[in-house]
Amino acid sequence: MNINSAKSKSLQQRALQWIPLGVNSNFRYWGDGLTPYLQKAKDGYLWDVDGNRFIDYRLAFGPIILGHSYDEVNAKVHEEIERSVLCAMTSELEIEVARMMVDMCPAVEMVRLACSGTEATMHAIRVARAYTGREKIIKFEGMYHGFQDYTLFSTYSPSDTYGNINSPIPIPSSSGIPRAVQGLVTTLPFNNLEVLDKTLKRIGHDIAAIIAEPCLGNCAAIEPLPGFLNFIRDKCTEYGIVFILDEVKTGFRIANGGAQEFYSLMPDLATYAKALGNGFPIAAFGGKSEIMSIIGHGVAQGGTYNNNKPGIAAAYATLKILKEQPIITTIQKRGQRLMDGIRELLEHSGVTFCMSGYPAMFSFAFGKEKLTGQRDWNETDKELYIRLIEGAIERGIMPDHDPREPWFLCYAHSEHDIDETLSVMNDVIKTVL
Ligand code: PLP
Repeated sequence: MNINSAKSKSLQQRALQWIPLGVNSNFRYWGDGLTPYLQKAKDGYLWDVDGNRFIDYRLAFGPIILGHSYDEVNAKVHEEIERSVLCAMTSELEIEVARMMVDMCPAVEMVRLACSGTEATMHAIRVARAYTGREKIIKFEGMYHGFQDYTLFSTYSPSDTYGNINSPIPIPSSSGIPRAVQGLVTTLPFNNLEVLDKTLKRIGHDIAAIIAEPCLGNCAAIEPLPGFLNFIRDKCTEYGIVFILDEVKTGFRIANGGAQEFYSLMPDLATYAKALGNGFPIAAFGGKSEIMSIIGHGVAQGGTYNNNKPGIAAAYATLKILKEQPIITTIQKRGQRLMDGIRELLEHSGVTFCMSGYPAMFSFAFGKEKLTGQRDWNETDKELYIRLIEGAIERGIMPDHDPREPWFLCYAHSEHDIDETLSVMNDVIKTVL
């Protein structure tokens, strides 16, 4: 990449002395001399330490739904932290956040708060195991549910290591995950009814939970085929399995009520984080009262920071704004224009490609016209995507460098930002393709 990055490079050298890879989450490392370091972010933009301005389509991997450092959310946080930051005592604001979530998310009747998506999925899986009295879970290849050990299998590994499609092998995505945990996870290809059906016939009565993102939100936002999510729903009912819908990326983003609203889907439990707090640390899991109400009755769940005031205040303000203003519909309109514009430019170039996802969260990949799962995506031309994205970043447009990560939009992205982005993409596509 060819942008002025002298200060980023120097900060990376300093960071490497004290922080592994010089970043506090592996995904933020783009390579030596390639990883940008932040000066500030506001609305739909961010500036790196070298003063380069970017239209930001990473949006912190999805949390920023309104805009960076959004005034109304920040004001509520400031107001609340004058009163308290953290107390081991429940405040009215927490109750309001739970009430608003129940109001907005069709399948959510009760809620518990947490601080990150990883915690939310970890807690939901514990509750599902406790509710069913079973230990095993099913997850889908290419889906990511956070860094807890229980689901970090067949997530980012090259999918040619995943074994035969009819009998997939759960591949740990990290050293350090106990082998014993591997025996508790079955990984399956997404969007494959037949393999799911056959697997459930074999082991369905041993499964505590099927956990699924509504789309492959961590692999090019590949959408579910019509009927697939409802098939999971029906099979969970048939086998007494808890269906956990991981809405950490889709919640409060693809619709006010997330994928549940978008697909008219009623999971048993759902997990949230990201857009819930517009960037502040807050997460949640919730669902059927019958299941949630076992918490506290022999089922442990808690966390010192679960009711941290900055997170709660941010969630309160964000949900209120989402409910009262046409935020998601505006993002959808602008996102659709961006998707359509990029699709047109790619079609014009003659390259073979596939677009996937939703206006608020979309991707494209090269070399294939249709994608249904991580195995197909693995065969796309990732190098070409990265060359294109590096060209865009050089010209001030910043989606994530990783081809698996979707482009995210927020309310602060203006029509003018979309125009600027399409003009840059036109230039880059002509240069690279
Ligand atoms: N679930 C999904 C679908 C995610 O995309 C992520 C993070 O990207 C997580 C869970 C984990 O969330 P967090 O990074 O807040 O722990």
